[in-house]
Amino acid sequence: MTNHELFQRARQLMPGGVNSPVRAFKSVGGEPFFTARADGAYLWDVEGKRYIDYVGSWGPMIAGHNHPAVREAVERAVRDGLSFGTPCPAEVTMAETIARLVPSMEMVRMVNSGTEATMSAIRLARGATGRSRIVKFEGCYHGHGDSFLVKAGSGALTFGVPTSPGVPKQNADLTLTLPYNDIDAARALFAEHGQDIAALIIEPVAGNMNCILPREGYLQGLRTLCDEHGALLIFDEVMTGFRVALGGAQAHYGVKPDLTTFGKVIGGGMPVGAYGGRRDLMEQVAPAGPIYQAGTLSGNPVAMAAGLAMLGLVQAPGFHDALAARTRLLCDGLQAVADGAGVAFSTNCVGGMFGLFFIREKVESFTQATAADTTRFNRFFHGMLERGVYLAPSAFEAGFMSSAHSEEDIAATLEAARQVMTTLTR
Ligand code: PLP
Repeated sequence: MTNHELFQRARQLMPGGVNSPVRAFKSVGGEPFFTARADGAYLWDVEGKRYIDYVGSWGPMIAGHNHPAVREAVERAVRDGLSFGTPCPAEVTMAETIARLVPSMEMVRMVNSGTEATMSAIRLARGATGRSRIVKFEGCYHGHGDSFLVKAGSGALTFGVPTSPGVPKQNADLTLTLPYNDIDAARALFAEHGQDIAALIIEPVAGNMNCILPREGYLQGLRTLCDEHGALLIFDEVMTGFRVALGGAQAHYGVKPDLTTFGKVIGGGMPVGAYGGRRDLMEQVAPAGPIYQAGTLSGNPVAMAAGLAMLGLVQAPGFHDALAARTRLLCDGLQAVADGAGVAFSTNCVGGMFGLFFIREKVESFTQATAADTTRFNRFFHGMLERGVYLAPSAFEAGFMSSAHSEEDIAATLEAARQVMTTLTR
């Protein structure tokens, strides 16, 4: 069965032929490939073609695909049963591990996805503060909960406009949006609405509008604003957690949120999310407190085994330094290749995540990210794919490095980029 044949079949019965939209390649054009297996830094499609993979299942595969430590932990767990519906020991170890690695996580609740984690965190924020409004940032993604599918109108103080049909306007009205990296806009918004704001939720490194790093002091400024107005600060570390640094972006930038959400790496490739933070807040979650949140499969023993094995791997001494160095090697190499070809290009990176922009300037805002040349990105994407390098299939997604990517893989990636970049000026 070829990729094309599978996609034809998939399209008959699945919306767009996929179970999550970006996989369908709509942004870059063409058809997706279907993966038959994955190992280390590579994916193999059903036609036997190998790709160096910089998507890593959208983040979880920080130690490479099919890592033996994770696979064996899962195999061991499976022998004892798939799901119990009672507490199990691995959940306790998981909570202890998270609390040790991320000190702001005084208590934690496991869930099954990043979306569940963020939805639950804002319910908790609303329940605990008695306020209804939340603040999010233009270009930040927090999963597909109704409150988050809202983009900015014009200007920081504009009330939310639903991005997706099906999100009631009344719901969208409760979400205020701000431009990322603009502390003055945040101050103005809080000056007007501060007393109604339950929480501000942010990706401390924005990874869903390509990859944009917070300006110096920006996260600290948001912390201060939240404190001044009695709003909670939620870091959505679904992407950055255990990737930007062992303690997440909050450790890297030295800012302590009230609540944090995790996903991706924390599940080692299984469907897992988590939220947690201040003890006085988490003690309000059911059954300790009245704010309801539950899950049939939450804390699943197989998922916990995978996550714990992955968290074991990222604790190896020097893991994140080596990952960051490799990410930097790739970004600097791509910059040199683009400069050599006369292509306007810039990169951002921190820890094991990176962004590629077909624009000359350094990108620090959503406006700049959307001003980059997406047509060029799409041509670059397809040229690289043809040469066996799989980048995220959209100009607005971050790239992910893993510890399995070797210097040879990066050299091969740069050689492919050299060939493709020269075609982009034609
Ligand atoms: N938050 C962030 C920062 C994300 O990047 C994502 C997914 O990409 C989510 C939340 C949603 O997580 P999930 O896709 O597991 O629901």
